[in-house]
Amino acid sequence: MKFKQLSVLALALLLPFATMAEDMLAPSQTPSRPKNMIIMIGDGMGPSYTTAYRYFKDNPDTEEVEQTVFDRLLVGMASTYPARVSGYVTDSAAAATALATGSKSYNGAISVDLQKQPLETIMEKAKKRGLSTGVAVTCQVNHATPAAFLTHNESRKNYDEIASSYINTDADVILGGGQKYFTPAMLDAFKTKGYQVLNDFNQLATVTQPKVLGLFADVQLPWVVDEPDAHRLTAMTNKALELMSQNTQGFVLMIEGSQIDWAGHDNDIVAAMGEMDEFAHAVEAVEQFVRNHPDTLMVVTADHNTGGLSIGRDGKYAWDPEVIQAVKASPETLAATAIANDNWQQPLADGLGFALTDDLQARFDHARMQGKDVLAQALKHEIDLRSNTGWTTGGHTGVDVQVFASGPGAELFIGNQDNTDIANKLASLLPKPKKSTAATVPAATPGNG
Ligand SMILES: [Zn+2]
Repeated sequence: MKFKQLSVLALALLLPFATMAEDMLAPSQTPSRPKNMIIMIGDGMGPSYTTAYRYFKDNPDTEEVEQTVFDRLLVGMASTYPARVSGYVTDSAAAATALATGSKSYNGAISVDLQKQPLETIMEKAKKRGLSTGVAVTCQVNHATPAAFLTHNESRKNYDEIASSYINTDADVILGGGQKYFTPAMLDAFKTKGYQVLNDFNQLATVTQPKVLGLFADVQLPWVVDEPDAHRLTAMTNKALELMSQNTQGFVLMIEGSQIDWAGHDNDIVAAMGEMDEFAHAVEAVEQFVRNHPDTLMVVTADHNTGGLSIGRDGKYAWDPEVIQAVKASPETLAATAIANDNWQQPLADGLGFALTDDLQARFDHARMQGKDVLAQALKHEIDLRSNTGWTTGGHTGVDVQVFASGPGAELFIGNQDNTDIANKLASLLPKPKKSTAATVPAATPGNG
């Protein structure tokens, strides 16, 4: 146990330098330029999320605090500020524009510049070079982050325009939620273009080749904490890797743990830890893929921090994740169930994992009379007080985010950088543009720049 811990630690310390060392020792065996690139974004996943997740997963019966996949892969930090016109605190659209294009823009921009002109994305660059491209997310596929990788729009709020532009992206894999934004005519157009169109998650396992458009929810996928065994993001990640690996020229895949951000906006530590756990599973799946495919680079980061999550509150030197672990569903679902049930007290206590005192029962009863949202708020507040979890905002904060990487080129991401640097480094690792894409790669038409 002790040795294992030490060796993991040693590996983690050496990891950033391993690629360089291997390059020097065996240049012919380890490619310095990756064939495949996987960009993983924990939306809203500021440093307090990965830290909280470490203690959330810690085994309290051992002396040491076990490392997470994030601890293992950490290489650097990134600033996230948007273009000057939007100040220092970015939204997901400007941040995803920076990560997809290497240029800063205004909050709300979907890969367009300050004059609302399209900025070429890494996905478009990859397509021009004959690579496959794809996205797998837990929000609707036309939400800000995947949108900035796939298309261009002056506003993230133009959901319908963004969805209807996807037919022109030529992306090989599009997986997530968002059925309500795709009309039957739009889905027919995808089928005509050779896409398999899925609307049932169970169909995903049967897909054996690209292209695929999988929309598995009306809008976003369910909270992980409400269906912890579904592992949808991991399943979508593994399927995307399987399908995109079929291109011998390589691929660029963007994977997003989208709803870490949504839990942060809701100041919901239970949902946040559930979304973090699933994102961590997906990162581990990609880490395994990179181990098995030494020609693949993975870079994990966040677009910004959400909620101002703090580990400890009210002057107390304590954080108690066992309170969070004991909660059996999202506060939203617990509240909805309690409202639908006249004998709500005992089931709610069971769901929360703690007994309801008379005082607490009276407070929850009062909140319950005012509806689901007020009751969910009361539940979250009680969980926060018991676990000593703090929040400073229902929006984003401007703190720097972490950068995690493994595979050829990972050493480029060591140290401090800007979010635009991440995109520019990734773009620098793409192969040289082909003189004529049409001659060599008939299937790859340029994106809808
Ligand atoms: Zn957000």
